[in-house]
Order: sequence, then structure tokens, then C-alpha cells
Amino acid sequence: MSLTTSPDAVAAWERRPAESLDAFQLIADAITHIGGFGVAAISVVRGSHLVVEAISGSDQAREQLTGARTPIANMLHEIARADDWGSFRFLPHDRIDPDNDNLGWVPEVEPLDAEDAWHPLDLLVAPLFDDTARLIGMLSIDLPGDGRRPGREQRRLLDEYANQAARAVLAALDHEALAEQVRLAEAAREIVRSMSTELTMETLLAACNEAMSEGFGAAGLWLQTFDAVGRPGSGRVWAPEGVEIDIPDDVKSIAEASAFDAWHRQSVDVVRVGEENALLPPRARDLVYDFLRSIDVASMLFVPLGAGQQCVGALVMTRGPDDPEWSPVEVSAARDIGLDVGRAVLNARTFERERELVSELQALDTYKSQLISTLGHELKNPLTAISAHLELIDGASVEPDTRFSLDAIERGARRLGRIVDDLMMLAKVGDPDTPLVTAAVDLGAIVDEVVDMFSVSATSGGVELRTDYTERPIHVLGDAAELDHVVANLVGNAVKYTPRGGSVTVSLSRVDNEVVLEVVDTGIGISAEDQEQLFTEFFRSRNPQAVAQPGTGLGLTIVARIVDRHGGRLHLTSELGAGSTFRVALPAAEPSGRPG
Ligand code: ADP
Repeated sequence: MSLTTSPDAVAAWERRPAESLDAFQLIADAITHIGGFGVAAISVVRGSHLVVEAISGSDQAREQLTGARTPIANMLHEIARADDWGSFRFLPHDRIDPDNDNLGWVPEVEPLDAEDAWHPLDLLVAPLFDDTARLIGMLSIDLPGDGRRPGREQRRLLDEYANQAARAVLAALDHEALAEQVRLAEAAREIVRSMSTELTMETLLAACNEAMSEGFGAAGLWLQTFDAVGRPGSGRVWAPEGVEIDIPDDVKSIAEASAFDAWHRQSVDVVRVGEENALLPPRARDLVYDFLRSIDVASMLFVPLGAGQQCVGALVMTRGPDDPEWSPVEVSAARDIGLDVGRAVLNARTFERERELVSELQALDTYKSQLISTLGHELKNPLTAISAHLELIDGASVEPDTRFSLDAIERGARRLGRIVDDLMMLAKVGDPDTPLVTAAVDLGAIVDEVVDMFSVSATSGGVELRTDYTERPIHVLGDAAELDHVVANLVGNAVKYTPRGGSVTVSLSRVDNEVVLEVVDTGIGISAEDQEQLFTEFFRSRNPQAVAQPGTGLGLTIVARIVDRHGGRLHLTSELGAGSTFRVALPAAEPSGRPG
């Protein structure tokens, strides 16, 4: 009798490595060709079964036995009652348990009419063990050529074959374990590699899915994450793209509790549907098994995910009824991967939180811009009315006291006017929907005009204002009104914040493809602390000398935005008490308007 056929096992049969097949086949062939037996089969322990991995013999035997799976327990049950022939165990047909119908294939031969005749139901097998006496495989033979049970000499030869088969199976299993380790290490590396880039839960899962289904041959995979410790059911189930996994809430809660427990034990558990395990408390099993059966899952590898003390989720890989068992190598690789994926989940969570914050900030920024723009427009109309009415009043006809008040109102209105202009300019240059219309602009001409405009206030403040450039025209690519604002603000500030006796020098030069504007003053300077916030809206220095000057704190913010939307760069060097240098580099242009 030889091992049973099981169509389920074809997948396992196809997965065995080619090298081991060659070695097994050689031994099996030797037994049939040299040893003179009709059939020889080598099977290997796969989980709770013996799976036939090499057969030599008739076509009929080969067809019937390919990938056959025999439960180990059934086989051991028979062997226990067999005769001990050294490496082999012989069980005569009349001692075989008639209820044990999952044992053999029975060749169609008539036994000889002799005392030592071989009976088609006789069982002759050699259990193969490793160094630690663990069962690793089985050599079964059938149909002796002479139709008789093997004699003393033949049995000695058979012992030899059994030894060789044991060595071959051991070498093949070692080889498989090594190949598996390499494969799984590659799967782990794949995940770690993907962790170095910015990660969302979706990309993490895609990486896991690929690595796990290739590395582990998992039929299915999902990730369950928990939001916070002690908030049952707070998390989410992530399935690879295109896969719908609808896990009932009570099963999710069980999984969550199990993940915390497994993480605490630092254990990866194999759960076989219908069997006991360390992971699931008895009262939870039926619920989980019913769910797993409903999605055609026969076993799962449950990997808790975490970092340090924190358990953040669980990774579940599943296999169907026809898939192989989870090997010890796979279980230990899954534990390592669990650590990496746990860290990745934490990273992904941080990254997602950051993204949320950024979009909240962006929304806030948009709101602020809208507020600034609305405020500017709403103030503009009443201010225009005030200014118009002030102009209508005939200064000569009013009393001196009233004249004094009117002057104060006029100053206030002018100041308010500047604030409104700045607000509207800020709203304009900060709005991505207001495009920049560029042309070749002669920055030299703008600087000349601005310097001219501030020469009166410079002279009255005792500040020497000079220019330092000869090349003309000197074109940049930009919007003339906005560039005028930049120059006026920088020169105005330099004059404003330079005490009597100081100087302000404005220079222009062309450096490669850029035009560089420099406004250098010998004024009060800006502390390093103030420099950090200088370009923030409404920021005014903490330096009392600066606060003494009128200002809105909007000027430099506008300058920075304009330079930025022109594709330029703004740079400041300053020392408190010694003066400041504002340097603006803008893209140069040909007079035609083409970039220079
Ligand atoms: P403000 O309308 O207050 O001048 P700005 O945005 O133009 O607003 O400038 C912000 C602050 O930067 C000013 O309040 C001032 O303290 C400081 N600052 C700007 N330019 C100079 C400069 N050339 N020298 C010293 N401090 C300056």
C-alpha cells in the first residue's frame, strides 16, 4: 500500500524547490531500479501532514500519488503496531486498522500463493528523523519485484536507502528554510525601504501588501490600527486597494484586545480556524472563526504592531484551506516585520497629523488674507468720504482752534490712508489668484524717482541719501508698480530709521542673470531677535528708537511677498546700533521683456 492521493495538495507539490526534487527523485529511482521495487515515494512533513514530494514507479502510481497528503497522526497510529525492521516499519495487511481509510493507495496485483507473499495492502515505510528525533519525512515502498516480502539482505539495502533519504530530506528542508529566510528578509527590507520616504497609511499598506503577498504568499492581508490606548473600536481597518474587508465591530474589538495582549507577550500567533490557540479567549473564538470561515480563511498569522510600550495596531495575514501551514521561519520573520511596520504606522500617523495641521493652517491663512482684503475695502470708502469733506472745508474761514483740530484729522486720515493702501497691497500680493503681469522694467528709473521723493525728508532729517550706480537702463522682469513699492519701502525705512548725521546709499548692479538692489544705511540697526520676525504682518520692533517712528508693520511683509512672487531673493544683514543692509536680487530682463 502507498500513500493516499489528495488533489488539495497540488499547490504544495508545485512549491517544492527544484534541487530537493532532484535529490529525492534520484533516491526514489534508485529504490525502484536497483532495489527492484515497483513504487518508492518520499514525503516530507508539512505542518500536520506528510506530503509526497518524489515518486518513482508506474505511471499509474505517479498519477495517483502526486502531491498526496496523509495526516501524520493516521500514519503514526499504524506505525505503532508495525514490526520494527531497523529503519523500516512493516505492517502486514491483516493488522491495518480497517477504519483508517486515509492511508493508502492499493495497487491492483494478485498476491503470490506463498507464505512470504507481498500483499497489496501491506505497508512498508521508513519514518525519517532529524538529529533531534523530530519526524521530518517518510520513505514508503511498495510492490517488490519478486512479489515477496523483503528478506534479510534486501532489508539491509533498504536501511541504506532510508539513511540517504533522511539526509536528503534534511538537506532539502535546510535549503528551504534558508531560501525562505532570504525571501522574507527581502520582504522586510522592502517595507523598511518604503518607510524612509514620506508615508501615509495607504502607501504603507501598499508596500506591506506587495512584500507580504510575495514574501509570505499570504492570500489576504489587512491592517487594523487603534487611535488611542483604551479606546476600544477607535481604529480603522486598512485593506489593500481594491479589497473590501468588512470586519464586524465585535470581531474588531476582539482583535484590538488580542493585539494589546500579543504585543505585551511579544508574540506572533498562528490561528487555525477551529483549533485552540493562545491568542483568542475561548468565548471569543466562535465569533472570530465564523467570520474567518465566511471569508474562506483557514488560518491567519496575527502580528501585533507597536513601538516601545505602545501597541498601535495589528497586521493580519491569511491563508485559505488549500494553502500551506505557516512555517516557524515565517512566524519569526513576521515578528521582526511587526516591529518595523509598527514604527511605520507611528510615522505615518505623525505624517498624517502634520498634513492635517498644514491644511488647517492653510485654511487659516486664506481666512486671514480674506479678512485683510475685506478690511481694506471696507475702510477705503469712509476714508475717501472723510478726505473729500476735509478738502471742501475752506481753511481760511475757520477759527484757529478748529484749524488745529482739522489738521489733526487730516494727519489721521493720511495715516489711515497709508494703512488702507498697505492692507490692500498686502491682500493683492498675497493672493495667488492675482497673477503677476511682468514686463521689462527699468529699475534704475524707479530708484531715481524714489530717491528724489525721499530727498526732502532725508535732508530735513540730516541724513545723506545717495545713489551708487552708473549703468542705465538696468532692466528687471516684473510689475512696475509693485517694484516701486519695494524700493520706496526700503529707502523710506532706511531714511526713517537713520538718525541725523547718518547716510543711506542705494546701489544697483547686474550679477549674472540678476539685478541686485542694495539699500545700505548707518541707522539704528535691527537686533537678531527682531530680525526673525521682521517679515511677519504687523510686526514692529521692540527697539524704542524704532517704535518712536510712525509705521504700520506691514511694509516689509509686502516687500517680501513681492520679491517672492517675482522669483527674487531678499536678504538682510543688520547689527543693532550699526546699520542695516537690505539686498534684493531680481531676475534681469532684456529691454524686449525677455529674461536677460
Ligand atoms: P514699519 O511700517 O513699521 O516701518 P516695516 O514692515 O517696514 O514696518 O518694518 C518693520 C520693522 O522693521 C520696523 O518697525 C522697524 O523696527 C524695522 N526696520 C525696518 N527697516 C529698518 C531699517 N532700515 N533700520 C532699522 N530698522 C528697520
